Amino acid sequence: MDRDVLDQFRDTLRRFVRERLVPLERQVADEDRIPEDIRAAFAEMGLFGLSIPEEYGGLGLNLAEEVELVFELGWTSPAFRSMFGTNVGIGSQGILIDGTEAQKRHYLPRLASGEMVASFALTEPEAGSDAAALRTRAELHGDHYVVNGTKRFITNAPHAAIFTLMARTDAGNKGAGGVTAFIVDAKSPGIRIGAPDKKMGQRGAHTADVVFEDVKVPAANVIGLKPGQGFKTAMKVLDRGRLHIAALCVGVAERLIHESLSYAAERKQFGQPIAEFQLVQAMLADSRVEAYAARCMVQDAARRYAAGEIVSTEASCCKLFASEMVGRVADRAVQIHGGSGYMQDYAVERFYRDVRLFRLYEGTSQIQQLVIARNMLREAAGGRAGR
Ligand SMILES: Cc1cc2nc3c(=O)[nH]c(=O)nc-3n(C[C@H](O)[C@H](O)[C@H](O)COP(=O)(O)OP(=O)(O)OC[C@H]3O[C@@H](n4cnc5c(N)ncnc54)[C@H](O)[C@@H]3O)c2cc1C
Repeated sequence: MDRDVLDQFRDTLRRFVRERLVPLERQVADEDRIPEDIRAAFAEMGLFGLSIPEEYGGLGLNLAEEVELVFELGWTSPAFRSMFGTNVGIGSQGILIDGTEAQKRHYLPRLASGEMVASFALTEPEAGSDAAALRTRAELHGDHYVVNGTKRFITNAPHAAIFTLMARTDAGNKGAGGVTAFIVDAKSPGIRIGAPDKKMGQRGAHTADVVFEDVKVPAANVIGLKPGQGFKTAMKVLDRGRLHIAALCVGVAERLIHESLSYAAERKQFGQPIAEFQLVQAMLADSRVEAYAARCMVQDAARRYAAGEIVSTEASCCKLFASEMVGRVADRAVQIHGGSGYMQDYAVERFYRDVRLFRLYEGTSQIQQLVIARNMLREAAGGRAGR
């Protein structure tokens, strides 16, 4: 996107977030629902299609551009972003990267416009971090597969029109190579969506179990028509997803710092604003330092990704650091608010719960550490072999 157009778009989004979304945060949390006119406004702005190329009806942003907008979205409750997050992320990217031209033409424009919501169904009750051990089965019967299994914690499942489903097509291969990615119509007979999960935070965003019982899926709906490639497809889009989440953490941290600073300037104890106490200043400064470091990391890795570099290690570094960082920033924000920070009247109480999720999904912090260390060891071994 042209730099001027991107700057304009970012300014419009910033105003929209601060003037329309921030005042709705409490209502969304209380009602556990995002108003329909906000959904329409997201669609109008093109947010469902941020990452989808223009030729398929999206805005066609590269990742460096996308993170600039996600920083802005982080200024408000993460539930808002979640509404279109699955369309921007793995719900569409799997189809974009590995889908056939016919699959792209059919699904991407509908995802970009928000007409369809796509959910990504990988996690299962017995397969979380060890996703390659998934058990959902898809057996080929002529021109279609029959799917049986249960998926867990699936974001936007109650609103989904399609699922990007990972299922085992090769019973003899218990690892990643036996997994195939499908596009499944959510209205297919045999699909049951569980009751929405009662989550710790991010009310307004919904997850649920998705149960598949003898669901017929046309073989033409295998992504890229290539069975056995599903896990690879999922992994290819993860770098992008992790950087997107890291950018969101930066945005939320900046909001929390803003809330902390405003409160500290107003609240008086011992006859002066608490902002004048150096121990409070230390908390503010530490949060600022960490948020700035995360912002720079995300920008660097996103630029490199956009330039075509492989940034698997850097994406995990960003996800790990930014999600842990926003946890610490939220904790300090509550501390700076004192007892009020424990009360629902203040936004920091809600954000404190909301940000806990970032260390868990799209790979837990421990999984990011494993990815980083594994890549380091591989690079070191490559270096030794090359010598
Ligand atoms: C709100 C929410 C939304 C989600 N949305 C989606 C979605 O849309 N689609 C989807 O497919 N999934 C989704 N998930 C699932 C999410 O990705 C998983 O919860 C996550 O990957 C962790 O898996 P798990 O919950 O089974 O935990 P487990 O894998 O059981 O992990 C439990 C603990 O063990 C640690 N651990 C596991 N293995 C290792 C290891 N090898 N070394 C060290 N420590 C380890 C973990 O880090 C963690 O601390 C969502 C989850 C939540 C909570």
